[in-house]
Amino acid sequence: MSVAKKILIVDDEEDITILTEKFLQLENYDTLTCSNGYDALSIIEEKHEDIALVLLDIMLPGMNGYEILTEIKSKYPKILVVLFTVKNFFEDIQRGKELGADGYLVKAISGNEIITYIKDILKKKINN
Ligand SMILES: [Mg+2]
Repeated sequence: MSVAKKILIVDDEEDITILTEKFLQLENYDTLTCSNGYDALSIIEEKHEDIALVLLDIMLPGMNGYEILTEIKSKYPKILVVLFTVKNFFEDIQRGKELGADGYLVKAISGNEIITYIKDILKKKINN
């Protein structure tokens, strides 16, 4: 059985998507990207066996991150979902947790911090 290792980045801000993808690729992660929930769900539908983690923006056109999170977790609970957003309020973090998010990253952090966080959360998944 192969280990799922792709990371899907869902963000409508192209600059953030490009930068995040670069940081992850430098660390040899395979990445997929899209800019809205409908595309994200169809990519996941097709490639869920390969996707380990979804880095998910909250503020998106159409479906928001919470709705997408709920959809992903109802069908594919093993896929890790980390909310990725400029929002950093307790209520948002709490809401994400209640809906099954595995983690929360605030966009102001550096590329190195993103890598460290993702390595750590993937490691925890493998050890459980
Ligand atoms: Mg956004």
